[in-house]
Amino acid sequence: MVTRATCLNETIVAMDLWHLALPVKSRRDHGIGTVANTVDVVIVRLVSESGVVGFGEASPWAVFTGTAESCFSALDRYLRPVVIGARIGDIPAIMKQADSHVVHATEAKAALETALLDLVGNATGMPVWSLLGGKCRDTIPLSVSLADPDFDRDVELCEKLRQQGISIVKVKTGTRGHAFDIMRLERLRTDFPEFDVRIDYNQGLDPTDALRQLIDMEAFKVTFIEQPVAARHFDVMADLRARLQTPLLADESVFSSTEMLRAVQQRICDCVSVKIMKSGGLSNGRNIAAIAEAAGMAAYGGDMFETGLAHLAGVHMIAASPNISLGCEFYQASFYLEEDVLTDPFPIQDGHVVVPDAPGLGMTVNPDCLQKYAVTASAGAKEFP
Ligand code: MG
Repeated sequence: MVTRATCLNETIVAMDLWHLALPVKSRRDHGIGTVANTVDVVIVRLVSESGVVGFGEASPWAVFTGTAESCFSALDRYLRPVVIGARIGDIPAIMKQADSHVVHATEAKAALETALLDLVGNATGMPVWSLLGGKCRDTIPLSVSLADPDFDRDVELCEKLRQQGISIVKVKTGTRGHAFDIMRLERLRTDFPEFDVRIDYNQGLDPTDALRQLIDMEAFKVTFIEQPVAARHFDVMADLRARLQTPLLADESVFSSTEMLRAVQQRICDCVSVKIMKSGGLSNGRNIAAIAEAAGMAAYGGDMFETGLAHLAGVHMIAASPNISLGCEFYQASFYLEEDVLTDPFPIQDGHVVVPDAPGLGMTVNPDCLQKYAVTASAGAKEFP
């Protein structure tokens, strides 16, 4: 008889990959770069010897984490030998080996761990959050980011969000000058007074002028100020944190547990954005949240330019991590991509993401979408079951 425990001894017999270029609805300006036309992601599918499947996603951004081409190569050439023939239940051992086979490549490793967890969840009938120890929340407050160079379009989006019960927005500041940022905050505070507003500079401010601009922004009572200066400027972040009353959130400064420790030691922030694409997976993301918790800092569920598949990995991580308590920004599948890779709509209800209870990640990937948007695919991936 195959029990839940014995099925974990099954081995992985196939790893298939798709590099997708997915059309997006508008241009977006961020402090470190612009996104337009398409976003590139890599989808990985693992198959066990009895035919159980698990999916994961790498969602790189060239100016932030890396490239889709490097993710594809890391998985296809360097991580494939680690995965094929491994037992599906040996996730920590596989991830440790992955670290020793290719340095960095955090998005590729996030995709791999996500697919392994989805595979084990599907094999055992357990949701991914249960594999991480259980859950502490059934829903997660959703934040939608505003980054359209045409602010009137973002105002239209805010009206739509209000109708859907979504009341957290994050304004991408520091892209078109301080006056543009002030204008947008004034308008939001006037027209959407009930909104919880956060601002994110994506490293966009010059350290010499950052404090003066941020003091102006504090007048709008934003919930937090995210990564105003370059990731490497730990001393500047610490200085700004000491001088501002608004909580300072670190994003690009903290990819790893080691950087989180350093952030705590140098007191550069009051809270931190945890993203599986930065940390290299759900387990590492939870480690970062745990270090933050020990230091008295809350964590936020950030993302990159992702489909609903990568969003779901983040959802399960946050569901299992009490300290990731500042909500999440998993809005891209519903509000930014022309078409998501999931068969069903990404689960949003009354301004919250709903944590799935079905096995694995809890949703299925649409094979037609993989075929339609594939730039390249690995040999086996051309035949979708
Ligand atoms: Mg950010």
